[in-house]
Amino acid sequence: MSLVDSHCHIDSKEFDGDREAVLERAAAAGVELLMAIGTGDGPPDLEAGIRIADRYPQFVASVGVHPHDAAKATGETFRQLEALLKHSKVVALGEIGLDYHYDFSPRDVQEAVFLEQLRIASDAKKPIVIHTREAWGDTFRLLSEHWAPSGLPGIMHCFSGGAAEAQRSLDLGFFLSFGGIVTYPKALEVQEAARMTPLDRILIETDAPYLAPVPKRGKRNEPAWVSYTAAKIAELRGVPAAEVAEATRANFLRLAQMPRDERQVAKLERSDGV
Ligand SMILES: [Zn+2]
Ligand SMILES: [Zn+2]
Repeated sequence: MSLVDSHCHIDSKEFDGDREAVLERAAAAGVELLMAIGTGDGPPDLEAGIRIADRYPQFVASVGVHPHDAAKATGETFRQLEALLKHSKVVALGEIGLDYHYDFSPRDVQEAVFLEQLRIASDAKKPIVIHTREAWGDTFRLLSEHWAPSGLPGIMHCFSGGAAEAQRSLDLGFFLSFGGIVTYPKALEVQEAARMTPLDRILIETDAPYLAPVPKRGKRNEPAWVSYTAAKIAELRGVPAAEVAEATRANFLRLAQMPRDERQVAKLERSDGV
């Protein structure tokens, strides 16, 4: 089974002691492709994800300013993001959005920095990774006004809403990325969303080191454990886990506009009779 962890923070200092071992366990669990989220500790450093992707071939990366760090962004930050989006391993801008739970940056600043990054991503024709917490209303309003016209896709990372938010996200052209939360027994609304979302619009992620899935809940999360999330979604939908793994992998490749692997291309060519 080949799995994609579409969202992890492997640059985190929580992995400084055993990063190589963590990545070996991921490979042993079949996690063959990962996206290193590049928000790090925020501006002026925008290359936390790129450093990982440059070092480890199984990674692609994002760049972006997390809503927590919005107050650290300057004009120079945005110019650098535009340049970094051209890096060959950068496939998305994120995670960006609004976080009204912590309010680490003032809300008007979060909104301004979010909007500027929507403009940068749509100019660069790159998908976005959305972080939204206790801010669905403003998130949907800004996305429908300022992102939907681009016609580009995006990812609702660590999807935490229910059926209504899932439908709204799907209508806006988003993929829903499910993480550890979907495995929590009380997360019935998120589980409902995982049941109703078409399989071709689902992604899976760990958000490691955060939000470990059951049965590892409460521990430091790591990419190998994305398999528990795949298994839970399969159980909720009544399909084999391998089907969820294959669909979420294909979805990620499509979203990131990455070529499928050569074996698959060869197979397609054979079936065409060439
Ligand atoms: Zn997040
Ligand atoms: Zn994250």
